[in-house]
Amino acid sequence: ENSATDPKNLRVKLVLLGDSGVGKSCIVLRFVRGQFDPTSKVTVGASFLSQTLALEDSTTVKFEIWDTAGQERYAALAPLYYRGAGAAIVVYDITSPESFNKAQYWVKELQKHGSPDMIMALVGNKADLHDNRSVSSQDAQEYAEKNNMFFIETSAKTADNINQLFEEIAKRLPRPTP
Ligand code: GDP
Ligand code: MG
Repeated sequence: ENSATDPKNLRVKLVLLGDSGVGKSCIVLRFVRGQFDPTSKVTVGASFLSQTLALEDSTTVKFEIWDTAGQERYAALAPLYYRGAGAAIVVYDITSPESFNKAQYWVKELQKHGSPDMIMALVGNKADLHDNRSVSSQDAQEYAEKNNMFFIETSAKTADNINQLFEEIAKRLPRPTP
């Protein structure tokens, strides 16, 4: 059966956006390979990985993940990645207010140019660095609510909330009627 219409085997294009250095690639590698590599390389342009997640109700969701580079010089390419995406993860670093501002820029971009029914997650990564926190969970939560996103704090380093992030997205995906 065609996976686009099979309600038991969903498939979604997912894009990660956010400032360079916030941990987008590490989040993806943690989810896909279960690893954290502190020497991971800077993403050039964008990279693609896929991973299938099995849910408790025996549905599976295949994530087709586009991990973008955060650098300004690639910003013009971003629409290529979020076009047709069913879900987006906008990442900031909880120790960096600049990265939270940049996340808000990406949210506006998605609202302007993305699909209106796109599922959007706001992710505060590097939660293990809580001693250096400079973005409060409450501010981020409020921002997310106003913008119809769900909010979660993660650590790609410790794996905290990484699976939960993708599970939450999976649960929110529209189920095709059989
Ligand atoms: P990207 O540019 O958004 O893809 O960021 P990377 O995934 O390349 O990560 C940038 C840097 O942040 C690397 O040095 C990572 O080791 C580090 N990093 C990523 N995630 C975490 C995390 O959850 N905790 C900590 N402490 N460092 C992280
Ligand atoms: Mg990267």
